[in-house]
Amino acid sequence: MIQIEDTLISLDIIEKAFICDLAQCKGACCVEGDSGAPLESNEYQIIKKILPEIWNDLSPEAQAVIEKQGVGYIDEDGEVVTSLVNGRDCVFTFYDEKGICKCAIEKAYREGRIDFYKPISCHLYPIRVAKHNTFRALNYNKWKICKPAEILGSKAGVPLYKFLKEPLIRKFGEAWYNELETVASEWEKQKESEL
Ligand code: SF4
Repeated sequence: MIQIEDTLISLDIIEKAFICDLAQCKGACCVEGDSGAPLESNEYQIIKKILPEIWNDLSPEAQAVIEKQGVGYIDEDGEVVTSLVNGRDCVFTFYDEKGICKCAIEKAYREGRIDFYKPISCHLYPIRVAKHNTFRALNYNKWKICKPAEILGSKAGVPLYKFLKEPLIRKFGEAWYNELETVASEWEKQKESEL
């Protein structure tokens, strides 16, 4: 574990190679799993506000779920998460012409229709942030559906924390990220010197 301010960072985040390989995984993280994507306290309201902008990109099934229970619900861990269709697909997903599952919120952002990119937990995935009393723990949520991303990351020599630079800065700030980079390169040097 590495500590920066009030965050404890798993070594996997600096040691594991990772680049999402959408051609292989087809965006399965938006579909697989038994809970929706965790939402921060203000994100539920933000999504409610931007809903009209993304409504036409959602499936009729997703629209029906949102009309019935809203954009999110409280899961069995007591966390507010995005609503799901049939307990699987996030309600904000759609499929592109190549059959890749994508996020309608991100699509609207990229088209300049809204200024909210997508929930930070999705942006940071496969890093998960767990809140504890006095600290936050950052872990790599290792899942077999992401295996192609580990292979692609290894080929390119890109570690997870570099692949997720943008969302890590969005969540923790530039100074925090710079410190992570420094600690990671010291860690790498130390490992090389031990070989
Ligand atoms: S996090 Fe995993 S499943 Fe999701 S897009 Fe990346 S590689 Fe695919």
